Amino acid sequence: MARIAVFSTQAYDKNFFDNARTEHEFEYFETRLRPQTVNLAQGFDGVCAFVNDRINAETLKLLAEANIKLVALRCAGFNNVDLREAENNGIRVMRVPAYSPEAVAEHALALIMTLARKTHKAYNRVRDGNFSLVNLNGFIIHKKTVGVIGTGQIGKAFCRIMNGMGANIIAYDKYPSEELEKMGVKYTSLEEVLKNADIVSLHCPLTPDTHHIINKNSLSMMKNGAMLVNTSRGKLVDTSAVIDALREEKLGHLAIDVYEEEEKLFFRDLSEKIIRDDQISRLMQFPNVLVTAHQGFFTKESMEQITQTTIKNIDDFVAGKESDNEVNCKMIKDCK
Ligand code: NAD
Repeated sequence: MARIAVFSTQAYDKNFFDNARTEHEFEYFETRLRPQTVNLAQGFDGVCAFVNDRINAETLKLLAEANIKLVALRCAGFNNVDLREAENNGIRVMRVPAYSPEAVAEHALALIMTLARKTHKAYNRVRDGNFSLVNLNGFIIHKKTVGVIGTGQIGKAFCRIMNGMGANIIAYDKYPSEELEKMGVKYTSLEEVLKNADIVSLHCPLTPDTHHIINKNSLSMMKNGAMLVNTSRGKLVDTSAVIDALREEKLGHLAIDVYEEEEKLFFRDLSEKIIRDDQISRLMQFPNVLVTAHQGFFTKESMEQITQTTIKNIDDFVAGKESDNEVNCKMIKDCK
């Protein structure tokens, strides 16, 4: 049995953990895990963290001083953890590598279809008794060229959806998938994907290599009026460059479920507060931009899977077992 301090807890996280069958004890904290909040973890065996918890060298050192030996991430991405420092401090880091790639892939589809068919505008318009179609003209996905950057679990699920819609799919990944090639996906360079795609969808992880993979230069290579979709990690995209590209009407549409500075905004109700992030405010003013607050993963099926895998990871930690869900420095190029 382990006692786990759960950080960044929302009511739904608590419901799923409380309803799961496990002998482990969970105590819930709404606050993010970061150096200033580590003291809450005193006396626990491990911490359970999410995408915007700041598990940097300082946090890890303080966790080690509190004798914490496990960081159980209830997400797939681990870019917010300093894996070298975790190793140096003898802390195991586990994650939930796959929980429903379809959840994120289908959310990317929802974003694309919303922008393509302007259903967000139609919804409000009709409720207001306005049945005019003026300015609601959209476009179809069939026969469009869709560029996929990163064809792991989510990228693959996304390609299958786009294939079903009759899109031509081009992709960039250092490790091409045979399954996708058989389906007709053509792998090419990053430049060719950017140059030829009507819709570019990002599904690679955030690493030193992919930080700002979409920047001024890559945006300039894209087709005029193309759509950019990011359901992966905010820092893949240079927000200032994207705002310039939208202002110059180079980029036709932007759909994001993740945002460079999301840790100060997402997963909170700030509706009565003044938003001091001028870039997100600017983005939300464009009529061709759609923002959702990191909800790609958020389905009943994913939450059940995340809870079960997190509990299994804690079981393995308690039993001292090796686990395929463990992440370490060796998995990252240039891990410092
Ligand atoms: P995965 O590990 O299965 O796949 C990632 C793929 O990206 C791999 O095929 C890898 O080779 C490729 N890749 C790595 N570096 C690359 C590069 N420089 N250029 C092109 N491709 C590269 O991961 P996944 O489960 O498909 O998840 C992908 C990402 O989606 C996660 O890292 C996470 O950031 C994000 N995600 C978002 C949500 C959400 O709610 N919006 C939920 C889960 C995951």
